Amino acid sequence: MLKIGELSKRFDLSVETLRFYERQGLISSRRNASGYRLYDDNALAALSFIARAKRAGFSLSEIADLQNLQISHDYDDVYLMAKKKLDIVEKRMKELQRFHSALQYLVEACDGCDHHHYGCTIMEFFDHDADK
Ligand SMILES: [Zn+2]
Repeated sequence: MLKIGELSKRFDLSVETLRFYERQGLISSRRNASGYRLYDDNALAALSFIARAKRAGFSLSEIADLQNLQISHDYDDVYLMAKKKLDIVEKRMKELQRFHSALQYLVEACDGCDHHHYGCTIMEFFDHDADK
């Protein structure tokens, strides 16, 4: 059994974060005679589970759903959740690629442009339709 401070060190999470996880029902503890929270192997396993699921992009509320699916063995739903998350990440990556291309174009166009005398090609680009 570990105290919250020991758990905090082991998982490199703040005591506040651990308390928050506990309030959200993601981990649980029991109190010893002095009133300290004690965490058993289930809490350790839950924290590893949370860390790995977070690394795959799942939010805490989704992780709570995953924990329930772990208990109910609804693995088809686990697959669907992971597939849905993958679709979201792929959409976001495409969006970021569009931002990247646009910014790269603007930065290259501006590089060396004379801001003191001629304004800036980036601003001209954004302002383009306002001239008409
Ligand atoms: Zn410029």
